[in-house]
Amino acid sequence: MSKEESEKIWLSSPTMHGEEMEYVLEAYQSNWMSTLGANIDAVEDWLADYVGCKYAVALASGTASLHLAMKLAGVKPGDEVLCSDLTFSATVNPIEYEGGIPVFVDCEYETWNMDPLALEKAFELHPSAKVVVLAHLYGTPAKLDEIVEVVRRHDAVLIEDAAESLGAQYRGTQTGCFGKYGCVSFNGNKIITGSSGGMLLCDDGEKAFKARKWSTQSREDAPWYQHEELGYNYRMSNVVAGVVRGQLPHLRDHIEAKKTIFDRYRAAFADLPISMNPYESDISMPNHWLSCLLIDEAALAPEVRGEREVLYRSACGKSSPHAILDALASINAEGRPIWKPMHSQPLYRNNPFVLRDGNGRARTSAYAAAGAVSPASEDVFRRGVCLPSDIKMSAEQQGKVIDVIRKCFE
Ligand SMILES: *Cc1c(COP(=O)(O)O)cnc(C)c1O
Repeated sequence: MSKEESEKIWLSSPTMHGEEMEYVLEAYQSNWMSTLGANIDAVEDWLADYVGCKYAVALASGTASLHLAMKLAGVKPGDEVLCSDLTFSATVNPIEYEGGIPVFVDCEYETWNMDPLALEKAFELHPSAKVVVLAHLYGTPAKLDEIVEVVRRHDAVLIEDAAESLGAQYRGTQTGCFGKYGCVSFNGNKIITGSSGGMLLCDDGEKAFKARKWSTQSREDAPWYQHEELGYNYRMSNVVAGVVRGQLPHLRDHIEAKKTIFDRYRAAFADLPISMNPYESDISMPNHWLSCLLIDEAALAPEVRGEREVLYRSACGKSSPHAILDALASINAEGRPIWKPMHSQPLYRNNPFVLRDGNGRARTSAYAAAGAVSPASEDVFRRGVCLPSDIKMSAEQQGKVIDVIRKCFE
């Protein structure tokens, strides 16, 4: 690693502890180097127990777990699936893998997750929808009471994308346990990592069995390779599981460290025209995977984003996301824009998009023309920034990050 890399303040990079190597070595020495072995069994048991669901199926990635969840939920070609708009593309793409049609649902301002009122509207406009995919953004639980109620009333299946929110709680229950299926990721920048990997959570033994079978090429119980349904190579490797197994005991510590980072930012920015990514402090406990800021409208300097480029201008006492990202880069710190809303991605620009007061597609152009309020997801994207949230960042390093951001508003 170069000096520049070793001193860089990262957004969120893997934090290793040593036990990972022991379990990886165990896999190596026992020659269980493939998709069977003690590490896989151990992480499945540990995770199911920790989050409080009956079954956990270890997979190659969070995206694989979302894909299998779509299949288990019965998504078929042409089916409309209601889905978070403000999220990473991996929440949505698996709907397309199955030929489904993502219908994007706007977010709210209290948690930046799917707006229950917009979800209700989406069922009204798309009554045939039977599946909802809900992401818990940046480790903050969505408004689960309301979402679960709406999903139930419409007799739909809820899939939780808990890729970013492992360990986060809502009314004392872990995210990933509210839907029929929960999906976790162990990608390199997540709260804990396996270098890659994912987990499908559910309470239905038959469904868990199906997912495990599909993930290992759908081999039937026969003396030869017998195939009666479509299979995938989606199983977690026992080597990856060794890394996850070494990380699991540190999950709580990682969450503590992330919370400390979040609280420091919040305190340091209290007098600036910005706020931190919000959560329902009375009922939810985020894992604070990423700390993000939102610039008050009145303190937003001019900034225009094209499809690939951005222009911004400084203004006294004001700043903008890319001005802040450039300031962070100037001290060798890594920030990131908020996820660009899915409804505005060229890939998904023709898909339906629903706001709490109706069809977003019909409204967006009119809103823009009138210069009025934009959909919440676009607004958060326009004013928000993901801040360095790496738990190896020292208080001194975070102090530098805070100073350079404060300067942006001078
Ligand atoms: C990381 C992530 C995924 C995908 O997980 P992988 O393990 O990288 O496949 C899915 N959804 C969200 C919201 C994520 O942040």
